[in-house]
Amino acid sequence: MDVFPFEIPGPAYRERQVRTWIYRRAARSFLQMTDLPLGVRTRLAERYGDVRPEPLALRVADEGATVKALFSPGYEVVAMRYRGASSRACADEEQHVRPGSSDRRTACVSSQAGCGLGCTFCATGQMGLVRSLEPFEIVQQVLWAADVLGGTVTNVVFMGMGEPLANYEASLAAIRSIHDDVGISARKVVLSTVGLVPAMLRLAEEPLPVTLALSLHAPDDETRSRLVPVGVRWPVAECMEAAHAFRGAHGRRVTIEYALIAEVNDHRWQAEMLAGLLRGTDMHVNLIPLNPTAGFPAHASARVEEFAAELKAGGVNVTVRDTRGREIDAACGQLASRAPRKMERAGST
Ligand code: SAH
Ligand code: SF4
Repeated sequence: MDVFPFEIPGPAYRERQVRTWIYRRAARSFLQMTDLPLGVRTRLAERYGDVRPEPLALRVADEGATVKALFSPGYEVVAMRYRGASSRACADEEQHVRPGSSDRRTACVSSQAGCGLGCTFCATGQMGLVRSLEPFEIVQQVLWAADVLGGTVTNVVFMGMGEPLANYEASLAAIRSIHDDVGISARKVVLSTVGLVPAMLRLAEEPLPVTLALSLHAPDDETRSRLVPVGVRWPVAECMEAAHAFRGAHGRRVTIEYALIAEVNDHRWQAEMLAGLLRGTDMHVNLIPLNPTAGFPAHASARVEEFAAELKAGGVNVTVRDTRGREIDAACGQLASRAPRKMERAGST
């Protein structure tokens, strides 16, 4: 699948010039590409408009360190800047941060506008699927985030809207382009999946060293199926087998994501069962305090520290994800497009 959506007339080096402008020089408009003849620039601008769409709306938090943008047809991207070695966008990144590197800039991208998989606790799932995104629409989100964060992005997480493995070809093509064109190693790209087992097995065969995160949320099928409807089709055991296949093929540590919900998946027996599932593996658990969404009545667990301790007692490596972006509905599972009038207009904070 070709990610580059523009046909550039003239000799082959013209396309290389345009690519450099788009991927490396942050051009937003063809008219900025001053080493192209004016006629070519004008024709490209007339045919395609801008290189990147303008956000329909922006929201800003943490004094500009967290910015969320809404794009048509209703998908969101979150750009986050982290200063200081102790902070991180999420634990999945932590394994890729060089000791001493202190400034991380993360793009949390969407692979779909909405999502059709209907996880009950997720705002994106509550809105349903609008459409899957084209690969360049995914790459554009990274370029936008780089702009907002002052020029570069160091990490990309597919933890925005949508299920990347339900939009498999486009997500993979986008990751290749992020690696080859934008220059961010695939190792610094975390693909988070709800556990579409056949697609996970396919991913294991790809020669792409992406980092995998599996949204498990429960060690037992009964609880998991209540939270994640696809759990009925692919039980926990099959998801874990697919995660092992990925680990075996790529030699890369897999993260287990677990949103802690009071009285649903935060019981001690579940921590013990999860520890049992992970015993003898190097998978680590990233606990996510449940973020509030309009359509899910349950509450965040008050047992996050205890659950983490119970997992650790069972020999599991655990981290707790921060809740960055909550106040602008930009935290995990809170992305759901709204009419722009309900958000601040682009440019305001
Ligand atoms: N579809 C993919 C990636 C997008 S969701 C997946 O499900 O993994 C990114 C992460 O946010 C997932 O781990 C998801 O389970 C989690 N999430 C969804 N809703 C949440 C909520 N309300 N609170 C906390 N985490 C949530
Ligand atoms: Fe879709 Fe992931 Fe939300 Fe489930 S948690 S509805 S798979 S975006």
